[in-house]
Amino acid sequence: MKCDICNNEAVTYIRYNGTHLCSEHFMKFVEKRVKKEIRRQVNLHSGDIVGVAVSGGKDSMVTLHLLHSILGERRDIDIQCITIDEGIEGYRRPSMEIVKEFCKDRGIRYNECSFSDKFKITMDEAAPLSGDSSPCTYCGVFRRNSMNDVARRIGASYLATGLNLDDTAQSIMMNFTRGDIERLARLGPHKKVQPGLIPRIQPLRMIPEKESLLYAIVAGIPFHNGICPYSDEALRNQYRNVIDELETRSPGTRHSIISSYDQLMPMLSSHVKPAELRKCECGEPTLSERCKACELRIALAKSKG
Ligand code: SF4
Repeated sequence: MKCDICNNEAVTYIRYNGTHLCSEHFMKFVEKRVKKEIRRQVNLHSGDIVGVAVSGGKDSMVTLHLLHSILGERRDIDIQCITIDEGIEGYRRPSMEIVKEFCKDRGIRYNECSFSDKFKITMDEAAPLSGDSSPCTYCGVFRRNSMNDVARRIGASYLATGLNLDDTAQSIMMNFTRGDIERLARLGPHKKVQPGLIPRIQPLRMIPEKESLLYAIVAGIPFHNGICPYSDEALRNQYRNVIDELETRSPGTRHSIISSYDQLMPMLSSHVKPAELRKCECGEPTLSERCKACELRIALAKSKG
C-alpha cells in the first residue's frame, strides 16, 4: 500500500475517508485536526495555565505531547501535567513512572494527587465495597473531583483530558439511552465557566482511538499499555461494543453521533440552565449540601467499618 499523498509506504488506511497515509502524512493528518479542535474549543490568553489530566495511557500521553508541542511555541501559556493515583496495585504506579519521566524530559511541571491522601481509601480497598455498582462509578467520581481540585489549586484556566472520538461517542450514547439529559448537556468541551469548576477541553475529540494509538507509536511517545483490573465491570464496555459494530458496518458512525450531538447542543443548553452551585465542605462545587465524592467517601467509610 502506498500513501495517497506522497507514494511512500502507507502505515494506515483511514476507512471513513478512504485514504492511505504514510507515517509523516498520518501524523500531519492527526495534528491538523487537533489544532483545529483546540482553536474551536478554546480561546487562550497570555498567562493561561492549561492543566492536562494524564494517566500514562496512550490517549493522555498523546494529548500532553500535542498540547506541549502545539502550545509550547507560546511562551505565555503554561502547560502542566496532573496525574491521579487511584491506588490500583500493579496498574497505576508503572504508568505514573512513565508520566514523570516524560515530564522531566520535556520540562513540564508534574502535579500528583492520590485517592488515599484525599479520600483516605484506595480503589483496591473501595472495589470490594462497591456492592451492585461498578468500581468505576466510585473511581470516576473521585477522579473528576481530584482533577478539578488540583487544576484549581495550580490556577489552571482549562483542564484538558485525553477523551478521544470513541470515548466521546460512547459518553453521548450512554447518557442518551439513560435519558440523562442534564449530564448530556454538561458533557465537555465546556464553553461556559461555572464558579469552582475548571472548564474541560478535549483536544482528541475528533481522533479515533486507533489513530491515537498509531500516533503514539509512530511519534515514539511512551505510554503504559496495562489494563485496569476493574475495567471488565465498566458499563462503557457495552457501549463500546455496540458503537464498534456500527462503525464496522457503516464507517463514519462515530463522527455522525458527535455531529448530531453538536447540532443539538444549542437546544440542550437552552433547555438545561446552568445549576446554582454551592461549595461542599471539601471545597468542591456541588448541587446539594455535599458533593458526590464526599457522599461516596462517607458511604465507603461506613462499609469499611
Ligand atoms: Fe478507574 Fe474503572 Fe478506569 Fe479502572 S477502569 S481506572 S476502576 S474508571
